[in-house]
Amino acid sequence: MSELHALFGGTFDPIHYGHLRPVDALAQQVGLKKVTLLPNNVPPHRPQPEATPAQRVAMVRLAIAGNPLFDVDLREMQRDTPSYTIETLAALRAERGQSQPLAFIIGQDSLLTLHKWHRWQDLLSLCHLLVCQRPGYRSEMETPEQQHWLDSHLTHHAQALQQRPAGKILLAATPLINISATEIRTRRHQGKSDADLLPPAVSDYIDREGLYRNP
Ligand code: ATP
Repeated sequence: MSELHALFGGTFDPIHYGHLRPVDALAQQVGLKKVTLLPNNVPPHRPQPEATPAQRVAMVRLAIAGNPLFDVDLREMQRDTPSYTIETLAALRAERGQSQPLAFIIGQDSLLTLHKWHRWQDLLSLCHLLVCQRPGYRSEMETPEQQHWLDSHLTHHAQALQQRPAGKILLAATPLINISATEIRTRRHQGKSDADLLPPAVSDYIDREGLYRNP
C-alpha cells in the first residue's frame, strides 16, 4: 500500500501558527511525509473571508516556503460554488485510487461541528480523520450518538492509518496553540501587532497589502 497522504483544508484568512505548529507535530507523530494545504474558496460554514482567494493563497505560499512537509492544492479555489470537503475528497479518491491511504486533518473545533458538514457521515468512507487539539474546545462530542460514532472509529495507533485507505479517527497529542485567524484580524482592526501569531513573511505581506484594516 502506498504512503499515507494528508490534506488540510481551511480558510487561512490568514494562515497562522495555530495551523502550522500542530500539523508539524502531527506529521512527526504519524510519520507523514507530505501535507497538502487546501485553501477553500467559498467556505459553506462561515462568513466570507476578508482577504481575496489570491491573497489567502499568497499567504499560504509564504508560510510554507522552504518547508518540504507542505504543498498546496488550489482545486477548491478554482471553483465558484461552495467548497464541500466531501466532494474534494471524492475527486482525490478517484485520482489516487481505492487503496491509497488518505487522511484529512482538522482541529478539535471542527470535529465538534463535523455533523454540520455536507454528507459528514460519508467522510470516513473516503479518508481517515486526524484531529489536532485546540485550546478552549471540549473533548466530548455534543450528543451520545456523535460520541458513539467517534468512539467506534477511534484508533490510537498511527500504523492503523497506513494499513487501510480510510475509516479511522486519530486524536493526536499535538501542542495546544491558542491562536485563531479571528484574533489576528481583530488585532489588526484595532491597530495592534500580530507578532508571534504567524510567520513574519505573512505578517509583512498583510502590511504591504493593507489587509485587515477595516472591521
Ligand atoms: P477563524 O478564526 O477565521 O474561524 P481559524 O483560525 O479557525 O479561522 P481556519 O482556516 O478556519 O482557521 O481553520 C482551518 C482548520 O485549522 C480547521 O480544521 C481548524 O479546526 C484548524 N485550526 C485552526 N486554528 C487552530 C489551532 N489554533 N489549533 C488547532 N487547530 C486549528
